[in-house]
Amino acid sequence: MVPAIHRPAEVEVDLLAIKKNLQEEKAHLKPGQKLFAVVKANAYGHGAVKVAKMAARNGAEGFCVAVLDEAFELRDSSIVDPILVLGVTPANEACIAAAHNISLTAPSLEWLEAADKALAKKDMVLKIHLAIDSGMGRIGFSEDQEFIAANEFLRNSTHFIVEGMFTHFASADSRDSHYFDYQVKRFNHLKNILSIKPKWIHVANTASSIFDKNIHSDIVRFGIGLYGLNPSSNPASPDLESEINLKPALSLVSELSFVKKVHSGYGIGYGSTYVADSDQWIGTVPVGYADGVIRKLSGFKIKVGAHYCPIVGRICMDQLMVLLPEKMPVGTKVVIYSNNPEDPNFIKKAADYVDTIHYELACLLSDRLPRIYHE
Ligand SMILES: *Cc1c(COP(=O)(O)O)cnc(C)c1O
Repeated sequence: MVPAIHRPAEVEVDLLAIKKNLQEEKAHLKPGQKLFAVVKANAYGHGAVKVAKMAARNGAEGFCVAVLDEAFELRDSSIVDPILVLGVTPANEACIAAAHNISLTAPSLEWLEAADKALAKKDMVLKIHLAIDSGMGRIGFSEDQEFIAANEFLRNSTHFIVEGMFTHFASADSRDSHYFDYQVKRFNHLKNILSIKPKWIHVANTASSIFDKNIHSDIVRFGIGLYGLNPSSNPASPDLESEINLKPALSLVSELSFVKKVHSGYGIGYGSTYVADSDQWIGTVPVGYADGVIRKLSGFKIKVGAHYCPIVGRICMDQLMVLLPEKMPVGTKVVIYSNNPEDPNFIKKAADYVDTIHYELACLLSDRLPRIYHE
């Protein structure tokens, strides 16, 4: 998809906010602890290369991505720091990862055996991080027996450097630490089985770092906090207090592309789900669900000029309509998502409105929206 540069709609990213969040987190780290910036999914919609370069310049010591291609994107942009692919990469990709000095996640003995075969053929060595499923139920070793066998296998193989061992928490953003404590116990249990010594044992994402869960982690995998958003994103309860100051970096802006007066009884959008009950001014914004502004946001109030105006009718693929309080000129600035937590259209409040998390709304912003950087 091409970025639409001839349309007044863009994702604005405040790179200085990213820098500040990183510096705050660096200052918050425990002695010796490293920060890996998590830039998967195009840096949560913010733009992976720009964010990664800013992070690399300001003390990030490595990067995490979700898939191998995201790692290549960073390498192609001259990023030389360690990169860990967090997801499961097909084992037959082990050689190309090794060739680019990219570390892969090892989720099972079966994967290790398959990757070993591929590496042996080309006599290559791959850096790996052993994933432990301590209760997330997603990927990684969870059974003692298999982990013991993997330990033995690794002791006899010459094709791996066991750079790390890690786990991921299901509820680090929750006040209730019951399940978190259970996962810590499971992880420590499996850690004690391992006779080989990985360089980095790591468990912390943003939440377990900034809510100060008291747990050892050689690396903080700093994701959502880098973008200035608080990971405790449950609309039903207030955010947990962050130990560091977070400054949100992303906003989504556009302009009115069309303005008209409609009379009482006039329908707006597909299915005419909104019908004017009086003479009204309706504005059109050239952004729709193909840009990631999902249909469920109908009714949410976005900022047009100085006013917060509800989206009326169904959001179309490429356009949406708003109810204006008065006649406004074409070209009036529209802020769909604000980066100011005080604003009613702060991205977190939009996420609450559609009963999801801000992570999701940010990631959904499609490549059709150009990213504009302020620094
Ligand atoms: C995405 C991800 C992170 C980052 O999580 P945040 O909540 O964004 O800090 C860390 N670790 C793993 C394994 C992940 O998948």
